[in-house]
Amino acid sequence: MTEIDLHIHSIYSDGLLSPAELCALAVRRHVSVVALCDHDTLAGAQAMAEAVATQSAHGKTLEVLPALELSSGPEGRIHILGYGATPENRILSETLARGRAERRERFAEILLRLKRMGVEIPTDQLPDDRSDSLPISRAHIARILIHMGLAHTMEQAFDKYLGEGKPAYVPLCHLSAEDAVRLLVSAGAVPVLAHPMRIGLTTFTLEALVISLRSAGLAGVEVFHPSASRSDIPFLLRMARNSGLLVTGGSDFHGDHGSRAQIGRLPSGWATWQEDLLTLKAAINNRTPLKRAAGNA
Ligand code: AMP
Ligand code: MN
Ligand code: MN
Ligand code: MN
Repeated sequence: MTEIDLHIHSIYSDGLLSPAELCALAVRRHVSVVALCDHDTLAGAQAMAEAVATQSAHGKTLEVLPALELSSGPEGRIHILGYGATPENRILSETLARGRAERRERFAEILLRLKRMGVEIPTDQLPDDRSDSLPISRAHIARILIHMGLAHTMEQAFDKYLGEGKPAYVPLCHLSAEDAVRLLVSAGAVPVLAHPMRIGLTTFTLEALVISLRSAGLAGVEVFHPSASRSDIPFLLRMARNSGLLVTGGSDFHGDHGSRAQIGRLPSGWATWQEDLLTLKAAINNRTPLKRAAGNA
């Protein structure tokens, strides 16, 4: 059984659980290594480290890798995970802040489009004053639509209102995928292509994307993600290994009721998770000097 989950979300982006709740759940599910991959922010990193320390103080085995998830590319559809990312890098922090500002503007535009559809979100339903360090995502709006009885599930809220091509859809587009990868490399992080099967490309164009991102510094592919079917896994594994890229895996757990995602629930067959984790950690450690060099100087 896989005992790691390298892709989860907290209340610091669009997850529903706090770092303390996530860590308690991870321990309960016998997951011993987690990575908090909140969208466009590292604001939860400290709380996550503290929650892990609390679990360790109680004799539990739990480790956290610092990480984040960047939206990039056309329609913001290409997501890049950055393992080992820390907030010290000024260019990274500034780019994240710009991404969150774009998200706030887009949020206002989505509300306007919903209004044009006759959907007026009561002000008391709006996410309460989220500080500038906390991103607003479509997941927040989807949950409000569910609460208003306008959709039964997150899936439905995206199908009816928020998904690509739907009337209240507004893309995110501040960063190209190559720039996202380069930014993470320059900040001393290890860039990994998240949920490749979610991007909506043919296998041929996906391989071309991976090759082009690899020349920008892409270091890995998230092969074991719930979006990969049983038959996708051998293809993704081959693609990653043939390109000399790391293999990672995570559940993309957000904490929604009714969602099948669970901490530690990954597609089966990750026989090499222990070696792959060691390789990822080594890659993170190798980049540390680069991070210092690219610091606030
Ligand atoms: P955003 O980053 O604002 O574009 O919002 C995307 C987020 O919404 C993702 O990170 C997921 O948390 C959630 N999401 C996107 N599509 C769906 C879907 N079809 N069903 C449920 N959640 C989704
Ligand atoms: Mn999300
Ligand atoms: Mn994603
Ligand atoms: Mn995610």
